[in-house]
Amino acid sequence: MASIAKVVVEIALDREFDYRIPAHLRSVIQVGTQVVVPFKSRELRGFVVGLANQSAFQDKLKAIAGVVGEKPLIPDPIMKLAYWIADYYCAPIEHAVRTVLPSAVRKRGAQHKKQLVVSLHADASLGLGHAEGDTSGLTEKQLLLVETLHAHGPMTLSGLKERCGCSDSPVRTLEKHGLVTIEESTIQRDPHAGMALLSTKPFALMAEQQTALAAICAAIDSAMPGTVLLHGVTGSGKTEVYLQAIRHALDKGQGAIVLVPEISLTPQTVDRFRARFGDCVAVLHSSLSEGERHDEWHRIRNGEAKIAIGARSALFAPIENPGLIVVDEEHEPTYKQDESPRYNARDVAVMRGHLERCCVVLGSATPSLESFSNVKAGRYRLAEMMLRVDDRSMPLMRIVDMRIEAEKEGRPHIFSRELVQGIYDRLDNREQVILFLNRRGFSSSLQCEKCGFVAECAACSVSMTYHKRQHKLLCHICGAEEHVPSCCPECRDPEFRYAGMGTERIEEVLEKLCPKARIARMDSDTMRTKDAYRRVLGDFRTGKIDILLGTQMIAKGLDFPNVTLVGVLYADMSLHVPDFRAGERTFQLLTQVAGRAGRGDKAGEVIVQTYTPHHPAIQAARSLDYEGFCAQDLEFRSELSYPPFSHLVLLTFKGKNEADVMAAAEGYFDRLEPLLPESVLHSPPVPAPLARAKGLYRYQIVLRCEHTVKMTKPIRHALASAKMPNGVTCTVDVDALSLL
Ligand code: ADP
Ligand code: ZN
Repeated sequence: MASIAKVVVEIALDREFDYRIPAHLRSVIQVGTQVVVPFKSRELRGFVVGLANQSAFQDKLKAIAGVVGEKPLIPDPIMKLAYWIADYYCAPIEHAVRTVLPSAVRKRGAQHKKQLVVSLHADASLGLGHAEGDTSGLTEKQLLLVETLHAHGPMTLSGLKERCGCSDSPVRTLEKHGLVTIEESTIQRDPHAGMALLSTKPFALMAEQQTALAAICAAIDSAMPGTVLLHGVTGSGKTEVYLQAIRHALDKGQGAIVLVPEISLTPQTVDRFRARFGDCVAVLHSSLSEGERHDEWHRIRNGEAKIAIGARSALFAPIENPGLIVVDEEHEPTYKQDESPRYNARDVAVMRGHLERCCVVLGSATPSLESFSNVKAGRYRLAEMMLRVDDRSMPLMRIVDMRIEAEKEGRPHIFSRELVQGIYDRLDNREQVILFLNRRGFSSSLQCEKCGFVAECAACSVSMTYHKRQHKLLCHICGAEEHVPSCCPECRDPEFRYAGMGTERIEEVLEKLCPKARIARMDSDTMRTKDAYRRVLGDFRTGKIDILLGTQMIAKGLDFPNVTLVGVLYADMSLHVPDFRAGERTFQLLTQVAGRAGRGDKAGEVIVQTYTPHHPAIQAARSLDYEGFCAQDLEFRSELSYPPFSHLVLLTFKGKNEADVMAAAEGYFDRLEPLLPESVLHSPPVPAPLARAKGLYRYQIVLRCEHTVKMTKPIRHALASAKMPNGVTCTVDVDALSLL
């Protein structure tokens, strides 16, 4: 038995420390065990990441002080995954370890304290609806507690306090008044138990669904399952295929993991799985309380739950012997974590599948070009579903050329006549409208409002970014610099300014156009809380809202049968961001948004307003030509060696003092450049498109190469020897999805 343990402690030192394992702990300590170790003058928690019998510091080793929990918290395959993440994404191993284990579990360890469960007395529920009920006379806090219990069902005392932000005392007072009971219980609270769900039976599948399911089940049964890309148009019934494939895995005694983008992780989504599989579904959701998350995680760890559903981090759910990992909407950029480790859950899912010999299904109506080319290269298998369930037709997409509109009207308008007429027609028919403003990311390209001309870099085919501070146009790929023209180089119009238009201004105009309509706006300004989001969607569903106006928040997965018109106000906005993926994102957004129309019995229509009607991304979206779009975009990427023909690493330097940041970036670059093999394309540091954020100046270096290690190895090397000036930090983003 090993006598020495390699331990990473919970502070990011990116180092393993050797500790002696005392004899009485030798039989319990394994890789993944959480331990307490003496560290300098204090004790820290950490994880055993390796075992050995030798150490360079043999005589000086301190002993492990204790073990937390009985079973290792991090199962072996997940520990391996953590190491892979740290290595591939250039992150300290502690960050990776922290990522694979929810903080709720890390902090509380594996012990199950006896929990106090609070439940509402039946009379208190009755009183809620009536002004004169026995809940009158309660303080605001007490009322909040009662309402929370009413909505949620029985909760643990700690969970309840956390959710309501209060101490024991108001809960105890309620107990004294006989409104609630507090009981001890060792039963773990399932946050969804008690909500009655009608169980659903598997649908008889459509032909395409059947073929897709067969391909996935064959993969699950195979010794080398690999990855299946499920390309299915919106409404083709992908979820039903997931459900039946999961059933297949369960029948073989295996578990499953389902990842969905955070924004699609709604109660409706989760209910579809719970209605089929009941309590063996565990949900890992950021809106759960710490206690609930802890419990859900342990329900998975002890085998009670066989299916884990959640956003990005649910990938690390300790499902034993998974048979299937589903990544729904695999093209979604939100699968990328924007802090260290900057991993992409889709790619790590494929890695976990590889490590655990488990089938991975990537589903999307618009698969990323990375996944598409992995199919072409024979690395992934493909299953296609090109028809909507029940032969519903795909919505008709009309393109409105806003340049012609601007000419007709003498000046540019936000709403074309066609779109306005379309909205009026729907309002008359008591149908609903979704208006979508394509305001993705940081849009600051310079555009002529009259002819649609956009300043682009000659060498890089991305739009130049307007830098207000310097009053210059810069290319963020190659660093090229240009003066800002005083009028449009194409049509000589002096109204040449940077594109940007907010939802707020649009709402104002809309209110004037449709004074009687009930309009709701949905963007990150108005949707600060999850409740606000749910409330608006609820009102829209029940017909209390006629027109829903929003940003990409409304593009995803929403299914409203009464929506017969979707309008896209400014399709170009996501085209002219300084990013080679701009075309792909635009194509995806338009396809997704269009998928929101015609989900019910009535046919749907989509009106897209644009200044560049002939852009391939817009044309391809209109004609539902995914393959055509891919072929065209891949050609351009191949010529310029962009992903998927290379991997891209983005280094960003940040700091309060611009001169320091620039000097740090340049100093680092001087160290890095000689270490780079010839096959690595690179350019010297330039100011980031987002030149200053949260008070910090930003400079960046972009590297591209077919093989990631050819970049990450030199990067690590140079980082180890480079001394950053005070106050400057450097982040490394491998396979960066945002170049801002
Ligand atoms: P997608 O995820 O591909 O957009 P969904 O899985 O949400 O599509 O399916 C769209 C709708 O069709 C859902 O309401 C679903 O219940 C229904 N559906 C799926 N498969 C079938 C089927 N084989 N027969 C009847 N209805 C189905
Ligand atoms: Zn350029």
